[in-house]
Amino acid sequence: MAHSLESESRKLLGRLKETLAEDSAGQERLDRITHIIADSMRTEVCSIYLFRDAETLELCATEGLKPEAVHITRMRIGEGLVGRVAKFARAINTGNAPAEKGFRYMPETGEEIYSSFLGVPIQRLGERMGVLVVQSKEARQFSDDELYALEVVAMVLAEMTELGAFVGEESGLSALHQRPELFRGTSGQEGVAAGHVWLHEPRVVVTNPVADDPAAEKTRLQEAVDQLRVSVDEMLSIASTSDTEQLQVLEAYRMFANSRGWMRRMEEDIDRGLSAEAAVEKEQSVARSRLQTVPDAYLRERLQDLDDLSNRLLRILTGQGNETGAEMPEDPILIARNIGPGELLSYGRKLAGIVLEEGSVGSHAAIVARALAIPLVIHCKRITTEALNGDKILVDGEQGVVHLRPDEQVQKAFMDKIAMQAEAQERYASIRDVPATTKCGTTISLHMNAGLMADLPSLESSGAEGVGLFRTELQFLIRNKVPRRAELAALYGRVMDAAHGKRVAFRTLDIGSDKVLPYMKPNDEPNPALGWRAIRVGLDKSGVLRMQLQALIRGAAGRPLTVMFPFVAQFDEFKTARDYLLRELDREEKLGHTLPSSVEIGAMLETPSLAFAPRQFFEMADFISIGGNDLKQFFFAADRENERVRRRYDTLNVSFLTFIEQIANRCDDTDTPVSFCGEDAGRPVEALCFAAMGLRSLSMRPASVGPIKSLLRSVNLTEVRGVIDESIANGDQSVRPSVLDYLARQGWAF
Ligand code: PEP
Ligand code: MG
Repeated sequence: MAHSLESESRKLLGRLKETLAEDSAGQERLDRITHIIADSMRTEVCSIYLFRDAETLELCATEGLKPEAVHITRMRIGEGLVGRVAKFARAINTGNAPAEKGFRYMPETGEEIYSSFLGVPIQRLGERMGVLVVQSKEARQFSDDELYALEVVAMVLAEMTELGAFVGEESGLSALHQRPELFRGTSGQEGVAAGHVWLHEPRVVVTNPVADDPAAEKTRLQEAVDQLRVSVDEMLSIASTSDTEQLQVLEAYRMFANSRGWMRRMEEDIDRGLSAEAAVEKEQSVARSRLQTVPDAYLRERLQDLDDLSNRLLRILTGQGNETGAEMPEDPILIARNIGPGELLSYGRKLAGIVLEEGSVGSHAAIVARALAIPLVIHCKRITTEALNGDKILVDGEQGVVHLRPDEQVQKAFMDKIAMQAEAQERYASIRDVPATTKCGTTISLHMNAGLMADLPSLESSGAEGVGLFRTELQFLIRNKVPRRAELAALYGRVMDAAHGKRVAFRTLDIGSDKVLPYMKPNDEPNPALGWRAIRVGLDKSGVLRMQLQALIRGAAGRPLTVMFPFVAQFDEFKTARDYLLRELDREEKLGHTLPSSVEIGAMLETPSLAFAPRQFFEMADFISIGGNDLKQFFFAADRENERVRRRYDTLNVSFLTFIEQIANRCDDTDTPVSFCGEDAGRPVEALCFAAMGLRSLSMRPASVGPIKSLLRSVNLTEVRGVIDESIANGDQSVRPSVLDYLARQGWAF
C-alpha cells in the first residue's frame, strides 16, 4: 500500500517535472499543474494562490473553481482559510470548510459546493510564496498520506516559483526577488551607504527538485550526511574545551547529524519523488516555520542549529560552497542573519555597510561596526531571504532603514543625501586644523573614540585632538582565549605610535553585561547590565586586569600613559584599581622595564552613584570620563538595549542635563578634567547642550568631529545657555524643542 502511494506520488512529481522542462508560458504551466494535481489526487478542485506582494495572495490558477476568478480573487495574509495557511505556515485539513475557524466565503469562485478543504503552504526556507489547495464535494477529511503528498508537491512548486517557472505576461507574475523592498530595522551604527548586496551565506539554488531514482538519491543523501558528520567531528576535535557555548552548538549539530528521525523523514520525502536537496529543504522549511512559533529559547536555539546544519548539508549536496564563484562587488553591503566579531573583522573596511536580521545594539558585531565606522542596521526581518547577491541596496544607519532594489526616485533622493553629506565632509576638512571655539570664545576640545588599530588613521583625518576612549574589549572578544601580554603590549605600543604623541585614553577591559567573552563561563545573571561586569570583574579576577596594566605600561615604553577604569560605582573601587596600577608600575620598574614618562589615572562615571562620591575621589582621579550610554540607562532606569524603552527618555531631558551640570561643577571644584564619551557626544544638538552645561571636552566617533566642530564654531554658547535656562524655568520636560527652535533661527536644521 505504502509502496503504491509512493510510486503514485513519484508519478505525479514526474509529471510536474515534465511541465518544468516544457517550453511554455508561466500561466500555461500553472494551469497544467492544477489539472495534473487534481487528477492525480482525485479531487474536484486544485488551486494555486501566490503572493502578489508581501501581504496579498492571489488565485493564480485553478482546476474546478470558476476560471473567471483567476487573478481576480485576492485575500490578505491571515484572511480566510487560504490566508491562514499562509500566515501560520501550517496546513488546514477539514471535511467541513464553512465551519472552520476563519472561513470566508468568496462568491466569485463558486467554491460553496465543495465541503472538504486541504491547504498547505508553498514555502522555501522560511520564505512564504503561496498556498496550494485541493477541495472536494465529499465531506471528509483528507488522510495523512494525502496531506503528505500535497506537502511534497508544494515543495516542488516552491522550487519552481523560485526558479521563475510561472513568470509571464499572462500570469502577471514577475520573477521573485526583483521588486523593491523597504525594511525597517534598528540603527546599530550611524552613517549612510549605497552599494550592492553581498550575502554572508549565499542562497542555495536547487535546480532539480524532482528525482525519479530514490535509491540513488538516498545514497547521495547518505554520503552527504557522512561527510557532514566527519566535518562536525573535526570541528569538535579542534574546538576549545573551555568554550562551552561553542561545544554545546557542535554537540547539537552532532546530535542532529546522527538523528534517525531527521534522516528518516528526508528518506520518506525522497521515496515520494523529491531529490535529496529538495528533501533537505523541505525538512528545513518545516523547522523554520516552527522556529517562528516556539516560545522556548532553548528549543529555538536548537532549531536554529538544525537550520545551520541543513545549510551545510545543502552546500555539500549542491556543491555550492560559500564560494559560489560570485565576485564581491566593489561597494559590498554585507547581509547576514547574524555575524560574529571575528568574521566581521575579517571583512574589515572592505564593507560599505552591514544589514543583519538579528543582532543587538550592544552585540559584538555592533561594536566592531562602530569601531570600523560602518553603517549598520539590525533587526531587518526576512532580508536574508529577500536579498540576492549583487542587488542594489541603500542603507540608512541613521533612520535604521534599508531599501533593497530601490526604484529610481528613492535612489535619487538617497544619493542626494549622500552627496550633501560628502559636500559637508569637504567643508569639515577645511576646519580640520582649527579649534572648536565658539562665537563667545569658549574652546571645546574634541576627541575620538576608537577600539581598533584600524581606527587610528581617523585621528589625523578627523582633526580630533586625541583618543578620548580606546575600548580594549575587541582584542579580547575576537579570540578564543585571553590574549597574551606580549601581544597586547605590542598592540598598545602600535596604537601609541600611530597617535604620534596625541593622548590616547585606554579603558581597561569592560566586559560582562552584553559583552561576554567567548571563553568566559557565561554567568546566569538575572540582570546582567546591573551585574558582574567591567571593573567588578577586573577587581575580582585581578590576574587579567594586572596583565593588561602590565601590557599598557610596556606598550607605553617611556611615553606618557593614560588609563581609565570603566563602571566605577564607588570611591573604593577606583582606589583599589588605581593601587593595582601603581603596584604594577613599581613591579615593572624592579624588573627593569622603562616606565611611562607620566601616568594619568582616570575613572569612567557611568553610574549615578559616582557623581555623589566624596570630594577625595574627585581629587584623586586625574580625570573623569562620563560614559553617557551607561549613565543614561541607569539614570532613567531604561535599558539601552531594549527597543521598547531605549528612546523613551531624551538626553536633553532637563533632569539629565541638570545632572550633567552637577558633575561638571563637582569636577570644576577640584580642577578635575572631565570629558563625555558616550554616543550622545557625537550628536550635534546634544554636544552643544553639554558644552552649554559646562563640559569642555567631548569624545565621539571620528565622523562626528567635523559636524560638531562646525556647529560649535558658529554659535554663542552664552545664548544657548540662556535658551536652556529659560526652557528649564518654563518647566519643560526636554530643552530640545527650544534649542532646535533657537538653532533654526540661526539657520541650522536638524
Ligand atoms: C558608555 O557607557 O557611555 C561608554 C562609553 O561605554 P560603552 O558604550 O562601551 O559601555
Ligand atoms: Mg559604558
